[in-house]
Amino acid sequence: MPRRHRTTARALLTLIVAGVLGGTAQAASVPALTAFPVVGNVHYIDDFGAPRPGGTHKGNDIMSIRHQPAVAFEAGRVEKWAHPSQAVPSCMLVLHGDSGMEYWYIHLNNDLGPRNDNDAGCSKAYARGLANGQHVRRGQLVGFVGDSGDANGIQPHLHFEIHRPSGRAIDPYAYLRRAKRLLYPRPAATDPIKLGLRRATVVDTGAHTLIVRTKRIRVSRWSWSYARSRKVVLSVPPEASFERVSASGRSALTLSALRSGMEIWAGTASFAPSWVTQRATARALAARHVTLRSS
Ligand SMILES: [Zn+2]
Repeated sequence: MPRRHRTTARALLTLIVAGVLGGTAQAASVPALTAFPVVGNVHYIDDFGAPRPGGTHKGNDIMSIRHQPAVAFEAGRVEKWAHPSQAVPSCMLVLHGDSGMEYWYIHLNNDLGPRNDNDAGCSKAYARGLANGQHVRRGQLVGFVGDSGDANGIQPHLHFEIHRPSGRAIDPYAYLRRAKRLLYPRPAATDPIKLGLRRATVVDTGAHTLIVRTKRIRVSRWSWSYARSRKVVLSVPPEASFERVSASGRSALTLSALRSGMEIWAGTASFAPSWVTQRATARALAARHVTLRSS
């Protein structure tokens, strides 16, 4: 019996050592908190492993619209990667995550205008000023959705892959499902910004609260806006201003005069970009100027 015990103990020790070594090799994993890589309203299915010309699909296709912002899934270093060997060059980005995982962003924008002109090369694929090797924050703007490469002419989408340190691509679907959808892409700088909520619809109002459904959003430091529809609960501080703009001029308005279904333009108060404001949890953002346009 003692001998048998010893044998069992040794076998167990061998298993533990093998487990520890195996665990070291697989130590990198996707962080618990991640930013959904496209800001906007998207749809996607688990098409990992689906048959494709020359092999199987190595990622998930996140269907979107042209020029929607793409953001860093986790913090890490970016590598811009144009693939010139195709008829229409593919504009890609690899994000080397701080966790050790790697994320591939494929079919980034190559169009100058609102249509599929293929005139921009990869000059409009990435966030302006983004440098190779630059370290980015989670949720930071890195590029724009498009149809470059072998997606030319089809529905603009982000082909998103997740790779282990070994290089093996894994199914991103479960990670995309649990990633947090953001209201806005954050700039590299930590300087305060404002959001312009264009043509938002009033959902409800409270004593110090304005609930809207957004439509298009502009971040103050950029000249472009993007489509984003979701409900946002804004706090309304005493200094917030409300006005009606019509053919006969401007007139003051109050929060309580707003009714469900009205279309407004709302500017937020200035704030420092943060994870909480990017997620736009209730009252994380404050209204500053609200305009109702009526004829
Ligand atoms: Zn794809």
